[in-house]
Amino acid sequence: MLAGEGANVHVDHWRRGLGALSSRLDAEMRRWRGAGKPPFQFELVGPFRWDGAFPLSPPSDRFADRALYMLGLWRVLRDIDGVADVDQSNWDVRLYVFGARVPGWDGSFAEGIGIQNGEVALVRASAGGDIFLPLQVIGHELLHTVGASDKYDDGGHALEPEGLVEPEMAPRYPQVHAEWMVGEVPVSPGAGKPPSSLDDLGVGPVTAREIGWAPLVRLAASSTRGPAWPGR
Ligand SMILES: [Zn+2]
Repeated sequence: MLAGEGANVHVDHWRRGLGALSSRLDAEMRRWRGAGKPPFQFELVGPFRWDGAFPLSPPSDRFADRALYMLGLWRVLRDIDGVADVDQSNWDVRLYVFGARVPGWDGSFAEGIGIQNGEVALVRASAGGDIFLPLQVIGHELLHTVGASDKYDDGGHALEPEGLVEPEMAPRYPQVHAEWMVGEVPVSPGAGKPPSSLDDLGVGPVTAREIGWAPLVRLAASSTRGPAWPGR
């Protein structure tokens, strides 16, 4: 955990939040494959003051830009690990959260990247106040690291059916949950509303297969049925 200028990181608040995120992901894994070891357990290191770069994306999608970006990212993470005295080999996934303050803005925000099938994710987010949005984005980027792909269209809305947690629901809309790899609760095709708590987020059948929570089967109309929600 890194703290930028003016950012107030309340460690206990973040520990509790990460615990809640871990529980929510655990509940989703159990829904798919039954009881087991929690899929994600967090250990918070820091916060450390950080005034250096925190590159979230290459300037363009060109190969040269992406290659330069990865090189720059590697250098930045090496520097952060030095400050935080982190031994990379002790972790399955390293998640770098940069608590930042946007002057004149007290609301929450979060943006990030997760290297798909990688071991690194970065999130730049508001650190104080309500941290639901940062936790939502952290969950999203972590799911990228274990193989999940994005499931939203250019407008940020759910792709059908892969962006739905319950594609088999009839009628299909409104959905109850936001697919974690989409980020909004679909209310009708091409439209959605923001989730308001971790309980509003879920892992749909396609993400569950990508991350190994559900068996790999060919995507067919009859195979999109997920397990029942507890208590529903
Ligand atoms: Zn994503």
